Amino acid sequence: MDNNTEVSDELSLSLLEASSDSMLLIKDDRFIDCNRAALAMLGYEHKDTLLSMRPCAISPSTQADGQCSNVKAKAMIALANSKGFHRFEWLHQRATGEKFPVEVVLTQVIRQGQALLHVALIDISEHETRLRRLALSKVYFDNTSDAIVVADQYTQIIDVNPAFSKITGYSRREAVGQKSGFMGSGRHGADFYREMWKQLIDRGYWEGEVWDRHKNGNIFPKYLKISSVNNRYGLVENFIGIFSDISEQKKHEEEIRRSVFFDPLTQLPNRRLFIERIEHLTQQYGRKAGPIGVLAIDIDNFKLINDTQGHSVGDQLLVRVAQRLEKQVRKSDTLARMGGDDFMILLENCGSVEAISHAAQKITESVGRPVWINGQEVFTSISTGISLFPKDSLRADELISQADMAMYKAKRHGGDRVEFYARELGERLARFSKIEDGIKRGLKRSEFVAHFQPKIDLRSSTISSCEALARWNDPVNGVVSPAEFIPVAEKSTLIEEITQQMLLQACQLLQQLPADSNFSVSVNLSAVDLQNRELDRQITRLLQQHALEPCQLELEVTESMMMIEMDLAIEMLGKLRLLGVKVSLDDFGTGYSSLSYLKKFPIDTLKIDRSFIKDIDGNTGSPDRTIVKSIITMAKALGIQVVAEGVETPEQVAFLRAVGCDFVQGFYFAKPMPEQQLIAFLQELTVDSIEL
Ligand code: C2E
Ligand code: CA
Ligand code: CA
Repeated sequence: MDNNTEVSDELSLSLLEASSDSMLLIKDDRFIDCNRAALAMLGYEHKDTLLSMRPCAISPSTQADGQCSNVKAKAMIALANSKGFHRFEWLHQRATGEKFPVEVVLTQVIRQGQALLHVALIDISEHETRLRRLALSKVYFDNTSDAIVVADQYTQIIDVNPAFSKITGYSRREAVGQKSGFMGSGRHGADFYREMWKQLIDRGYWEGEVWDRHKNGNIFPKYLKISSVNNRYGLVENFIGIFSDISEQKKHEEEIRRSVFFDPLTQLPNRRLFIERIEHLTQQYGRKAGPIGVLAIDIDNFKLINDTQGHSVGDQLLVRVAQRLEKQVRKSDTLARMGGDDFMILLENCGSVEAISHAAQKITESVGRPVWINGQEVFTSISTGISLFPKDSLRADELISQADMAMYKAKRHGGDRVEFYARELGERLARFSKIEDGIKRGLKRSEFVAHFQPKIDLRSSTISSCEALARWNDPVNGVVSPAEFIPVAEKSTLIEEITQQMLLQACQLLQQLPADSNFSVSVNLSAVDLQNRELDRQITRLLQQHALEPCQLELEVTESMMMIEMDLAIEMLGKLRLLGVKVSLDDFGTGYSSLSYLKKFPIDTLKIDRSFIKDIDGNTGSPDRTIVKSIITMAKALGIQVVAEGVETPEQVAFLRAVGCDFVQGFYFAKPMPEQQLIAFLQELTVDSIEL
């Protein structure tokens, strides 16, 4: 850009002379002209004295910042020559030697075809400070990136700065004369402006965010500060507004908001936002509201797909499911990704439970269709659980966990279905986890003890063995039935510890009996125990530690336990039998009861389930009599001994003896009893054998 100014001789000279500002002209590092004001400022009487001097002679050797004046001056001049104009602060020295600060403005001028430097000096020392401030505020006004609007007391614009034009698109000419609110976007109501003016009048100041309209029509956010300026009588004379465009900042804030409240993969609201919405809703409606459905949705085979086909397929599947869900929900509903493959939906306006159920059904069916990913068909289905506000709970966190519970129930039933939360489900789960905690504590405090129930050998009328049955002496609830805690323990690894306890206590009992008594104890195993590949080694060690024969220990297993990993189960029991440990098939008749399995399983004994024994007395035509009889015949043919469980009457004993049953166990003879009681019971019997 060429900033040089062609100045006609006479004009420049008369300007120089007339100006009250100090001015000089430099050519080739010499002063060639100056005005009277410059002479006065620098303290020289005659122009000739000054003109004979080099420019560096009117500066001290170093500047305020410690730099060498000569070097710095050259740099300033070079800058002025290259830009055509340069403004800076400088320390000068009067003829008296007194130093004083000035603002220097160097401007390149062409005079008689020659390039000269025009120097303007503004004294900015003490008595000139006010002037300088004004100059500076002018510089600020012109150069700041904030838009500045000056309006009169009637809010009519009287001046705007360059930044104003840059931000709003309106030139100074277009803006001046307009009312200050001429760029209003229409986004703020009358109340907003009323409040703003009220504050301005009361306090003389207002600031806040305002949406305005750019000349090109775009609406943009700005941060505006308005102050009123009073005259000396205390009346408002001007309003000064300063604002900046905060679109970028807003965008940034929005990005942050998105990352806090939205899931980056699916762009759906995340758990946090979902919880916020549901909390808002529950607070807003209270108990009176019509039913609102909280749906928990989970992709049935997601883990499998993710593990086998890779995370990228997994991610794509999530996105596709999210898209399908989005199509199914209305604008007023909230769909969120809670994490992993968990989604949740808040159905607000269905009106009835039936409608919620219907919507959930539709969602589950339409989303659970195969999708194509990378040219591959991926089969997928979803499970949906529903909890209802206000029926199930008034609290957001509870509604979410209830919907989750219902969803797990849907999964347990095979997936690809919808389940409602039922209070019983929650209560059962709560009881479950309470028992689980109790078991953990109880195991540490040795609260699990074996009770022993004798089995009677019908042929010899003696007690040849007994079954160890777990009892939990809970200090709070008293003796807890195994029917309560065994199913809970079986869901975790706690059952293994209980089994170990029972095995140990069985061994301890055997140790207290005479070595030649030929007595055996049976211990019940669980499916989990049967999967334990160390079981044979653990049992061998235990028997050795107690110096017992393997044939003194019997293990009771059920058919259903055998079915879980049949080959492994058969292998483990085979190993144990090879050691000499006996195996008994418990609850026979309630499971598969297939002859082919019976042949396959390595067992010594079979226990006919109590439910068949119950009805064998009295009615001679009872089908159970026939069943029991044929089980015994079949077992005999396979060389398996038979125990009848739950024997309660002498008639039952008589029948079982008649059909050739080997052993009986039941309340008719004895209930399960603690160790010491059993030992006493056995001693009594050897004295005078019981009549059967
Ligand atoms: P089970 O193995 O079939 O045990 C026999 C159950 O029948 C015992 O109930 C016993 O007290 C009961 N019983 C015995 N005689 C009679 C009778 O004449 N009439 C009636 N009505 N009942 C009789 P219990 O001790 O409550 O055990 C229930 C179930 O809990 C057991 O059934 C067994 O499946 C499981 N269990 C008990 N202890 C253990 C254990 O240590 N480990 C494992 N895994 N399960 C155990
Ligand atoms: Ca048993
Ligand atoms: Ca049984």
